[in-house]
Amino acid sequence: MMAEGLSEATAEALLAELISTVKALKNNIKSSDKFAVGLSLAKAEKTVRSATVLSSAAAALKEIQEGMAGCRLCALGKTRRNIVFGEGNPRAQVVFVGEAPGADEDEQGLPFVGRAGQLLTNIIKAMGMERKNVYICNILKCRPPQNRNPLPEEIAACEQFLKKQLLIISPRIICALGTFAAKTLLGTETPITALRGRFHSYEGILLMPTYHPAYLLRNPAAKKFVWEDMQMIMKELQN
Ligand code: SF4
Repeated sequence: MMAEGLSEATAEALLAELISTVKALKNNIKSSDKFAVGLSLAKAEKTVRSATVLSSAAAALKEIQEGMAGCRLCALGKTRRNIVFGEGNPRAQVVFVGEAPGADEDEQGLPFVGRAGQLLTNIIKAMGMERKNVYICNILKCRPPQNRNPLPEEIAACEQFLKKQLLIISPRIICALGTFAAKTLLGTETPITALRGRFHSYEGILLMPTYHPAYLLRNPAAKKFVWEDMQMIMKELQN
């Protein structure tokens, strides 16, 4: 049942669900309740189907990640320590897209693991989810030196990887964190202050721009606006 590339926690959850369904199925067979047997079989089939979709999305993401190992498509390939591909549920309903890795992310090869990352984790928890339920990545997969702003040619070279990730994950909602993510995904020069607070569309997917957690660390008063944006996402997810 443990599919290659599937996150351990997700695979365990699916396995546990399958085991409990099979147990229910056995009990129903013993009591010869044909209707209940049919229901349990349908549930088992659904679980297996979900695992298959999840497994193939995980494998497709892994293929892209492996394919970009050692990437030198832009100059950041020479200065980074690690490519920060992204992490999370391969079929997440919500994908958070930031700007680029910082020092901690470059060091660990994981997205949003520094102070801003901790704040993002808290925001996700406040939304009633966990990091493993969502997917987190950046526009750029390599750290710009001294955390300078991404250059247009770097975004142009790297954006293809994000596009592929989003195509595979196929989320219901993308949350663009900060100016660069929002402007890049929406192809606009409109500032984040004017973009946030309402849904936009990216390739037919709802996109909510909001402030970057690093901005919130410098401007805690803006947290209330982010929370308004997150509440709109939560409401949309309930529909
Ligand atoms: S930032 Fe993107 S395009 Fe540039 S080297 Fe890294 S992975 Fe390649």
